[in-house]
Amino acid sequence: VRTEPAPARPTAAPARQSSLRDRNLALVLEAVATASEPLSRADLAETTGLTRATVSTLVDVLIEGRFISELEPRRTRTAGRPATDLVLSGDGLVGIGLEANVDYLAASVVDLAGCVHRHTVVHADQRGREPEAVLRELARLVGQIIDACDREGLRAVGVTLAVPGLVDGDAGLVRTAPNLGWTDVDAAAVLGSAPQLAGLPLHVDNEANLGALAELDRGGGDGGPSFLYISGEIGVGAGIVIDGSLFRGARGWSGEIGHVAVHSDTSVASCRCGAVGCLETVAGQDALLAAAGVESVDALIQAATASRRDALRALAAAGRALGVAAAGALNMLDVVDVVLGGIYPPLIAWLRSDIERELGARVLSARWAPPRLRAGSVGAEAAVLGAAHSVVRSALATPAAYL
Ligand SMILES: [Zn+2]
Repeated sequence: VRTEPAPARPTAAPARQSSLRDRNLALVLEAVATASEPLSRADLAETTGLTRATVSTLVDVLIEGRFISELEPRRTRTAGRPATDLVLSGDGLVGIGLEANVDYLAASVVDLAGCVHRHTVVHADQRGREPEAVLRELARLVGQIIDACDREGLRAVGVTLAVPGLVDGDAGLVRTAPNLGWTDVDAAAVLGSAPQLAGLPLHVDNEANLGALAELDRGGGDGGPSFLYISGEIGVGAGIVIDGSLFRGARGWSGEIGHVAVHSDTSVASCRCGAVGCLETVAGQDALLAAAGVESVDALIQAATASRRDALRALAAAGRALGVAAAGALNMLDVVDVVLGGIYPPLIAWLRSDIERELGARVLSARWAPPRLRAGSVGAEAAVLGAAHSVVRSALATPAAYL
């Protein structure tokens, strides 16, 4: 079983390996990235346990590599050179996130400090299109984005593509994305054909996992949170975060909550995966809109606000199904927090009571540790932002590889 390693915390003992400099670069960068306020070179020496001379050399390399930048010198009361604080650079290296989803394509550019420089969404139904055509369109889009970054003096250091399905991330393969109709698609090969992507690391990951990572990044604060992130789109996926790390499962294919059964009524239409009673056939976007008799999530919100019976009934059914599926996961995982993402946050007012009733009735530990439900704080773009953040996270963890 594989979990994503938590980022290394700065330690008092500097590394003593042959790759000493590379590891110390990472150590210093980590200290800058995790500091609650900007640190000077002297602060960094104290935090990392490295000498001031070593820290100064490493800081110069990181400034040159555009990982960190210097703020205006701080005035001090004592004599000598004023201290200069260091922060992650907002105008140097950037990560690019892409998303191929069922009814839209998206791209985001995020800098090392976590600021979003660019966010593009192209709304169009991707079902029935050849995977290669979708990926070529994404390749064109990311090519234009990298050109724009070049013009703005930003250096793209990698691309991660989010897809709603099972992926072999390092190989860049999408094994299956049922709602897109993709099977064994070599996404990295098609995307990599864009000349602007030559030499850039390219990864593919599951959209709910990336959404959960974006939520984890935003959460901050308490260090090692555990939560079940449920992303509602045409399909429904989950990202499982345990003690601050994404739990990916044995092959990276965990979190397919959309295909957890919530009923076994064979008279109802079966799921795109071929099975009967899957969560997403009740709580996925298409199922929800069809049951409510509306065309869009906005129309569903209007109908629910106007207390239209079909809309309220559809949302109640979705809430019950989400509660049943989430209760199963909570019983298995010993997690108390459920975070709703994708289309669900603006609908949570109508989903909450049914989800909470099912959680309360079905989670064995509910009496002692009541399940908590909340809307995600990142919004509908969580997966594509998480994709861009995953590139940034990798650059921050191994700066020497990007110099
Ligand atoms: Zn299914």
